[in-house]
Amino acid sequence: MPIATINPVNGQVLKTYDPMSDEQIDAAIERADLAFRQLRGTTIAQRGQWLTAAADLLDAERDETARLMTTEMGKTYAAAKAEVTKCATACRFYAANAEQMLADEPADAGAVKATRAFIRYQPIGAVLAVMPWNFPLWQVMRFAAPALMAGNTGLLKHASNVPQAALYLEDLFRRAGFPEGAFTTLLVGSDAVDRILRDPRVRAATLTGSEGAGRSIAQIAGRELKKTVLELGGSDPFVVMPSADLDQAAEVATTARCQNNGQSCIAAKRFIVHTDIFDAFAQKFTERMCALRVGDPMEDGTEIGPLATERGRDEVHAQVRDAVDKGATVLCGGELPSGDGWYYPPTIVTDLRPEMRMWSEEVFGPVAGLFRVSSYEEAIEVANGTKFGLGSNAWTRDPQEQERFATDLDAGSVFINGMTTSFPQLPFGGVKNSGYGRELSALGMREFCNIKTVWMG
Ligand code: NDP
Repeated sequence: MPIATINPVNGQVLKTYDPMSDEQIDAAIERADLAFRQLRGTTIAQRGQWLTAAADLLDAERDETARLMTTEMGKTYAAAKAEVTKCATACRFYAANAEQMLADEPADAGAVKATRAFIRYQPIGAVLAVMPWNFPLWQVMRFAAPALMAGNTGLLKHASNVPQAALYLEDLFRRAGFPEGAFTTLLVGSDAVDRILRDPRVRAATLTGSEGAGRSIAQIAGRELKKTVLELGGSDPFVVMPSADLDQAAEVATTARCQNNGQSCIAAKRFIVHTDIFDAFAQKFTERMCALRVGDPMEDGTEIGPLATERGRDEVHAQVRDAVDKGATVLCGGELPSGDGWYYPPTIVTDLRPEMRMWSEEVFGPVAGLFRVSSYEEAIEVANGTKFGLGSNAWTRDPQEQERFATDLDAGSVFINGMTTSFPQLPFGGVKNSGYGRELSALGMREFCNIKTVWMG
């Protein structure tokens, strides 16, 4: 992939970048290592001031930054503005709470009495962050804010199609006051990741992206005995049971599938609906999906912009075609539009079968798979019947069923009567092929800490 800004609205190449040379990469790693020695000696209060300054800059620069994201990857301007604000909120959350999250925790060594025993959380060094283009700021910020507060430094290898967002982030932390090298953007292709991760000055890695990228990074890190956190794909179930409020469920289903032009790891992708209310739900859902306004993401009122890359759109359409060719039914969308831009219409496909790609693969675009089930047990079987386990949703007003879903859904999160989303306060991550480790909350911050046991006799 070239490192370039290419507008998905018309395919125009707006800016290209040469990848950094080996010498430049080496110098950047050296700066990150030196910055770590400096940053670990600063107080949490000082780092909090810098992170708050970053939040202030994000707020002040919201509109230009949002425009940049929309231009690079096609999300609607409104969604881009909300993303900038969410990043500022996360910075403020960690600035306010890191002191307490990183405070020494008294411990009891049991039979062997200590005069004092406690757990101390300390930073580990430079962490490589390999990040995707779908939330160009937020995916990075949910790693960077806790990592910097803990005293680690960050080396960002962002997706090749969002280089300007990547450079903005480096500049943001520098202007906020963090020491030179505390957060560095490496303009490199994915082929450079191997040598960066093998460098002894790089202590760990976090990746958000595809399963393939996850396997590759985990393999390298495994050889080097380095910690990784992986947040990979998902094909989240959205189960609707007979007691659900169907209007609300259909409304949220539409947003949950089509947020970010359908390109979110925690988008609901498989809609698993009880047969008693299947037809009623299908009608409400179809009406809402068909009514969404697809168009220029900078225009007011646009609800769905283009997909980020031509390759991504081709892949989505190939998955839909595969299902249709094998006998699935399309309730809306499914046709490739003519004209400029990598647009794809909101689409619902039903009568899916295991031999179709959409049954088991993640679809990274505004395409919903609709499944009919006849019992709670069957709903759970279909919901858990993929290799993924990131988020999950269930819609029911029956308190017993709510409890059962919370336990039985095999995923990193369960949202009952609401949409899966990420909050700075709550841990975020998956099970099975959706990855391991957690981001956000105190747990996310501690992933890249030396959790040190201290025992004093
Ligand atoms: P990728 O996993 O290819 O890209 C994510 C990041 O990983 C980018 O920075 C990319 O760099 C890098 N990367 C890719 N391959 C490797 C590798 N072998 N070693 C090291 N780094 C690598 O995602 P795509 O953009 O290609 O999207 C494909 C699929 O990934 C989607 O359909 C979706 O299923 C999933 N995905 C999931 C996301 C999530 O939020 N969980 C986000 C994006 C994608 P470069 O851009 O230079 O290739």
